[in-house]
Amino acid sequence: MLVIGSLNADLVVRAPRFPAPGETIHGGDLAILPGGKGANQAVAAARQGAAVAMLGRVGQDEFGGLLLENLRVNDVDIALVRRSQGATGTAIIIVDEQGQNSIVLSPGANGEVGSADVELAAFSGVKLALFQLEIPLETVSQAAALAKQMGARVLLNPAPARPLPDGLLSQADYVLPNETELGHLTDLPVTDLASAEGAARVLLDRGPGAVIVTLGANGALLLTRDTVVHVPPFSVKVVDTTAAGDAFIGGFAAALLRSLPLEEAVRYANACGALATTKFGAQPSLPGRAEVEVLLKK
Ligand code: ADP
Repeated sequence: MLVIGSLNADLVVRAPRFPAPGETIHGGDLAILPGGKGANQAVAAARQGAAVAMLGRVGQDEFGGLLLENLRVNDVDIALVRRSQGATGTAIIIVDEQGQNSIVLSPGANGEVGSADVELAAFSGVKLALFQLEIPLETVSQAAALAKQMGARVLLNPAPARPLPDGLLSQADYVLPNETELGHLTDLPVTDLASAEGAARVLLDRGPGAVIVTLGANGALLLTRDTVVHVPPFSVKVVDTTAAGDAFIGGFAAALLRSLPLEEAVRYANACGALATTKFGAQPSLPGRAEVEVLLKK
């Protein structure tokens, strides 16, 4: 599978509270962590045994080198990650004592992923192409069309949410929003299972093959033109829900590559998402295949 998306360095510092404008406060030690929805989902799928390549961009700075090395040690092929002149994408994250976060996202090199990068990919041998929205939308649209044309299945995680052209939605075999993203995409309030189903149907009518809504502690909803299935969650002890969505999506993609039937692939993804909530952090919390198999048997 090929993931076409973002690589970010997450710069995280804990502080007693958020500083006021013009104010300087003291925080804890800085942590520099690999992130970006594209890279997180690539690593999530690789940990489930999928053969994963990433297409994206980092800068010439030190963060760029760190992010490439991180993908490499996680068995993600980085031949299609190019280096831009400017800065690597970063997320500057302040976490307060209540665990709330405040984030400034600097797209950097992610903003430069363009048509020339996509043409480079050619998509030969790619069975599944996975996209998020942290790179330019035109690039996502162009690459999704090309992937589809080359016979790959197209998965779109519409995050962070922004208005999408119907052209892109109809290229997607699977669109996977969370509840908030589904609400933004459809301009409908999504507050419970019934409203999620209603909004998912509106999204499905815009052209994708299926819509899979992640529902946090309520599992996931699978909607195709013939079926609606609420796939129940796994019960786990939640520590930190960061990257649950990325674990779900990477796990779903890996399950599809192993030819699991759709509903079973969603159940598999639920197990991946649930396990990611049992550990702190983003990539450190992405589960391995053995853990998932254990949970699935429970
Ligand atoms: P996001 O991280 O994008 O907000 P969700 O919160 O919907 O995504 O979580 C993604 C998936 O992770 C869910 O569909 C579910 O499978 C799993 N998950 C999340 N929170 C829990 C939880 N508290 N208990 C069990 N599974 C969970």
